[in-house]
Amino acid sequence: MKLNIAGYNIDTTVISAAMDAGLDPSLFTPEIISAAYARISRSPDTVEELRAEARENVPKARKSNQSIVFDMGHSSIAEHAVFNIDIQDISRLALEEIERHRLASYTEKSQRYVEVGKDYMIPAEWSSEEDRAALERLQKAASAFYFSLLEAGIDKEDARYYLPLSLTGQLGATLNTRTLEHMILAFAASPLAEMNELGTLLNREISAVAPSLVRYVEPSEYHRREYSQGLFGNQDIDPESLTGQVVSLDGSDLGTLALLMRPDQVDTRVLAMRMSRQRGIPFSRALALAGALSADQQNTEFQALLSPLGLHDSAPSELEHFTYTWEIILSAAAFAQLKRHRLSGITCSAYSPALGFTHPPALSPEQRAAAAPLIELSHETFLRMAPHGAAQYALLSGHRRRVTWTANLREHYHFSRLREDGHAQWDIRAFAFAMADTIRESAPLTAGMLCGKDRFPVIKARFTS
Ligand SMILES: Cc1cc2nc3c(=O)[nH]c(=O)nc-3n(C[C@H](O)[C@H](O)[C@H](O)COP(=O)(O)OP(=O)(O)OC[C@H]3O[C@@H](n4cnc5c(N)ncnc54)[C@H](O)[C@@H]3O)c2cc1C
Repeated sequence: MKLNIAGYNIDTTVISAAMDAGLDPSLFTPEIISAAYARISRSPDTVEELRAEARENVPKARKSNQSIVFDMGHSSIAEHAVFNIDIQDISRLALEEIERHRLASYTEKSQRYVEVGKDYMIPAEWSSEEDRAALERLQKAASAFYFSLLEAGIDKEDARYYLPLSLTGQLGATLNTRTLEHMILAFAASPLAEMNELGTLLNREISAVAPSLVRYVEPSEYHRREYSQGLFGNQDIDPESLTGQVVSLDGSDLGTLALLMRPDQVDTRVLAMRMSRQRGIPFSRALALAGALSADQQNTEFQALLSPLGLHDSAPSELEHFTYTWEIILSAAAFAQLKRHRLSGITCSAYSPALGFTHPPALSPEQRAAAAPLIELSHETFLRMAPHGAAQYALLSGHRRRVTWTANLREHYHFSRLREDGHAQWDIRAFAFAMADTIRESAPLTAGMLCGKDRFPVIKARFTS
């Protein structure tokens, strides 16, 4: 066996210093690795030789990439070229659009831990003097309320519920060039000017370093339609259609959760899949065997399956075949956390005042009443721009959207570990508890160790006793 580190991400300041010291600038492109790997499947040369050839003739490497990626459609080659990108002075709303792209890694400034409330952007859509002044008025009022809550001893993570989605943040993102190309296309198709601007910047910067890997960035009508979904400011959001249980904490209404679709006979089928895999028998036979087990025998089988699970382990892969689909109405603050779980399907409609407002339980009734004029101002400001999606810049982090979320049971295990845990934020935590309760009804054995990290030792001891 032989292993080489062929490359890794390096800070651009170091790259510039190396160029200044006389190294050939054309060598500083991830296209070299992409081009070499692209040829692995068809060339008898070793991968070191292929990399050397690509380094020695970068223009030829680029041509090879273009022909393999674009002419032959072998697009995964672009995934070998990876970028680290700082994005700053970007709105909270735009951050969500970026993070719709799940095949990537993100870390963003947390409004739970960092005092914010001073930095906003004015979107290009708010261009008339009156609209601009109205949005600025809202931003000022929101900042004043935020700081008054901090002074009154309310935590940052709660006070932020009253800050608008036009508040700016910063993000570190690690993305491969295939995802980047997709992003550039999606942002060009977006109805939001801020996304269009970001797409143009990304295209310019990435194409300067890796011109052979970014090509299909012109949106079609289909792209324009798809990437505007969930971005219209008043797309007939119907508050009457609220279904499902109200998720609450200490009596505070946090939104709703409804199970739209769930699998049947989960426990028996999980066991059957395990038997089929272990014994090499067809699933149909394994299902008959698992179905014939008594409740006690099934219990014993699940002990064997789940008891070796450690706190940081992924649940068994059989659980990936069982998916749950939820309709969730939740605050922007809670959605910001839900969307970070990338092994899931998310479709959502726009934020709307019609869906209610989540007040943190830490606020007294008087403090909530004091928030009413700000929320009213937010609605009035929103209406200036609705139905355009840019109206959402005037809504606050406590405003809600309706989301359809699909995750398999393995991802639900991970979600519960992180989001039912004592370190989790109270809003998303309440949804995580409610989901786990519902899952346990249809899969009591499979979900036997579904819990937050903090409860894991207790739940494991109970499950295995
Ligand atoms: C208490 C708490 C505080 C947080 N604070 C912040 C914060 O300040 N800023 C911030 O930006 N985020 C924060 N997060 C979000 C956190 O960083 C994760 O983005 C989020 O919890 C999603 O979890 P995940 O990445 O483990 O997995 P998911 O996306 O749910 O994926 C499930 C699992 O799949 C695997 N996986 C998925 N994608 C990849 C990949 N690309 N590469 C390798 N493995 C992968 C991993 O094993 C992962 O655990 C916080 C989360 C918690 C629970």
